[in-house]
Amino acid sequence: MAYSYDTENIFAKILRGEIPNDTVLETEHCLAFRDIAPQTPDHILVIPRGAYVNFDHFVTEASDAEILDFNRTVARVCKEAGVSPDTGNGYRVITNAGPDSMQEVPHLHFHILAGRNMGALLVKPA
Ligand code: 5GP
Repeated sequence: MAYSYDTENIFAKILRGEIPNDTVLETEHCLAFRDIAPQTPDHILVIPRGAYVNFDHFVTEASDAEILDFNRTVARVCKEAGVSPDTGNGYRVITNAGPDSMQEVPHLHFHILAGRNMGALLVKPA
């Protein structure tokens, strides 16, 4: 499959420094920053610097170094935020991909959600 990447999406603009962000951690291949509309006390987004639309695109085309760095960055952010289960109260990681997920920004991002009990993963519609 050929993935089409929109270079004008909001996270591409953040990566280019065109709009500000509240950075939590920077690595060679990734940026972690606070979500502008947090849904939990800790709501941090981790994105690769590379132009990947979603997780499928990333695991198909990213280098091993990018994939390793991304995973380690997610774990490091959780540890440094004090929410890893070994020292804290835990976290939830979510990534949306495609229309059924209601993905809003077409640049891969993992949501790290933590800081309160989040209940069940999904609530069934009434
Ligand atoms: P999605 O629905 O694509 O999985 O999540 C997109 C997330 O990006 C949302 O949680 C939204 O609040 C966040 N977001 C959208 N625009 C901005 C922005 O300009 N800055 C930051 N930090 N987060 C944003």
